Amino acid sequence: MRTNISTTKLAGFGTTIFAEMSELAARTGSINLGQGFPDTDGPSEVLEAAVEAIRRGVNQYPPGLGDPDLRQAIVEHQRRWYGIELDVDNEVLVTAGATEALAGALLGMLDTGDEVVLFEPIYDSYRAGIALAGATPVPVLLTPQADGRWHFDVSDLSAAVTDRTKILLLNTPHNPTGKVFDRSELEAIAQVAIDHDLIVVTDEVYEHLVFDGGEHIPLATLPGMFERTLTISSGGKTFHTTGWKIGWMTGPAELVKAAKLAKQFLTYVNGAPFQPATAVGLRLGDDYFDGLVSDLQVARDRLADGLERAGFTTYRPDASYFVTVDVRSIGFTGDATDFCRMLPELAGVVAVPASAFYMRPEHGSHLVRFACCKRLDVIDAAVEQLVAAFAQPADGGAMR
Ligand code: PMP
Ligand code: GLN
Repeated sequence: MRTNISTTKLAGFGTTIFAEMSELAARTGSINLGQGFPDTDGPSEVLEAAVEAIRRGVNQYPPGLGDPDLRQAIVEHQRRWYGIELDVDNEVLVTAGATEALAGALLGMLDTGDEVVLFEPIYDSYRAGIALAGATPVPVLLTPQADGRWHFDVSDLSAAVTDRTKILLLNTPHNPTGKVFDRSELEAIAQVAIDHDLIVVTDEVYEHLVFDGGEHIPLATLPGMFERTLTISSGGKTFHTTGWKIGWMTGPAELVKAAKLAKQFLTYVNGAPFQPATAVGLRLGDDYFDGLVSDLQVARDRLADGLERAGFTTYRPDASYFVTVDVRSIGFTGDATDFCRMLPELAGVVAVPASAFYMRPEHGSHLVRFACCKRLDVIDAAVEQLVAAFAQPADGGAMR
């Protein structure tokens, strides 16, 4: 039997950290604050629409571009929230989650030897998609500041671009840091993209989860950027339907066409009854979207306060599902992956080592990500266990 079975393109990749940690939670009966999925159902209108679609017989292959009504709802959504106008027949493509949209974009546009500039920490599927395309990721570091914000140097971004760079891949709001790139940062990114004639792929799956009244700005809305930007999102985070895997890409026809070329050979299509249901979600009123983010903000604060109480230096996110901590602050000097493997035994909790998001482990080996997209009673129970395991007594345990 031959031994060289797996493609060398994926050498160095193992089971995803999310699968490993969810399996660890199930095996040890721990509270799972690892993989980012909500533990409550989303709006009943959306769920009922899926049930109704199945009953109505929406059970065969949808059209290759996606259900026309979902595509129309995506057009309406981009207009309603961002003032972006799209041609429903050429500038919108429904995909199997944002994951397939990303894979389609990377496989459909990259050649061997091309380079992709992206911000580190890096969501795991980006590097795999780039590797499968035979291209090379070139990271630009995001560094946490004293105020908890994550910062990059524009000079690092410019220096990362070479004559082989084809794509700049941006994730805003960002997983795992929860960073929301602000207008001045986006302007700097846009300038680099324009100066070097780069295609930009943006992953905006946390677009509706921006806290504290902050603003998500799609890069495609900046001057000169629509024509070079492929914008990706999905319904999973917005409607608590991560298992449905209904995503989409929008952008100029040439970019959508290139990504579609690869996408059609990955799944072709998926999730027929979940497509009209996601359209119902996209058309929900502002109350729904306001409630979504205000509930999650309460959960973010509950978790972040609790992690601080347990003694962790905590980076409170501006958006997303995730709170990152520095485990050195509780005296742990080893690797975050080892910390996370021990955490079920130490505290009955599962988290994700943010080191899994780093190409250069030295920058992230001390960072651990906790998911706050959970019921408050679940967060409270996890916090109690973390406090019991790690918090120092108020008097510092000093001897009397
Ligand atoms: N991009 C980012 C940044 C994510 O965190 C995730 C996972 N939730 C995805 C893409 C994948 O999205 P989907 O489940 O729609 O494939
Ligand atoms: N995006 C989710 C997270 O970051 C996980 C998705 C997955 O398991 N691939 O936790």
